[in-house]
Amino acid sequence: MYRRPESGWIEVICGPMFSGKSEELIRRVTRSRIARVPVQTFKPAIDVRYADREVVSHSHLRADADPVGDSESLLRAVDDATVVVGIDEAQFFDDGLIEVCERLAAAGKQIIVAGLDLDYLRRPFEPIPSLVGRSEYVSKMLAVCHRCGGPALFTQRIARSDELVVLGAEGAYEARCRFCYSTEEPEQLALQ
Ligand code: ADP
Ligand code: MG
Ligand code: ZN
Repeated sequence: MYRRPESGWIEVICGPMFSGKSEELIRRVTRSRIARVPVQTFKPAIDVRYADREVVSHSHLRADADPVGDSESLLRAVDDATVVVGIDEAQFFDDGLIEVCERLAAAGKQIIVAGLDLDYLRRPFEPIPSLVGRSEYVSKMLAVCHRCGGPALFTQRIARSDELVVLGAEGAYEARCRFCYSTEEPEQLALQ
């Protein structure tokens, strides 16, 4: 028997740093806002690099965003009336984000999740890879390799640090293609 299709779904925007994930997220939520679709955008509370209550791209595009501490607080912060939910820097959320996105999509909302699919050692950066498997739409973004100008799918850490997460892009990371990414950089060897 025919049943009217439900309207909720998940879109993932993934790729390395500088690939335009935030730009694309901002473009999509801004279009919805122009169309007067109720939108809420979130980011992890630890990411207050450029602004407290906005997501900002490296190209200085901006959109209002509420910082939330974890996936449970995100779920609680979503209004019933909201139709489009944007989430930037989603790799900094706990794995509960997968279940939260699925619950929101099941409730008829359109979820747009942007984040790194790999960490700087090219390991899967959860929850993004799992969300890719649970999403209807995936946009894999590529940056321009800082070394050669080729298609960059990896993020190379170029600043020394023992932390997995070093916030603040400029100077600490570069986008690299598969030919220019190096496992031989001294900081990386020291960390493995
Ligand atoms: P992401 O969220 O994926 O880190 P952003 O959306 O914040 O990326 O930034 C994308 C913008 O960054 C590009 O439109 C461009 O202006 C700028 N940019 C700086 N370096 C690079 C690079 N190596 N490759 C592509 N874009 C870059
Ligand atoms: Mg970004
Ligand atoms: Zn290259």
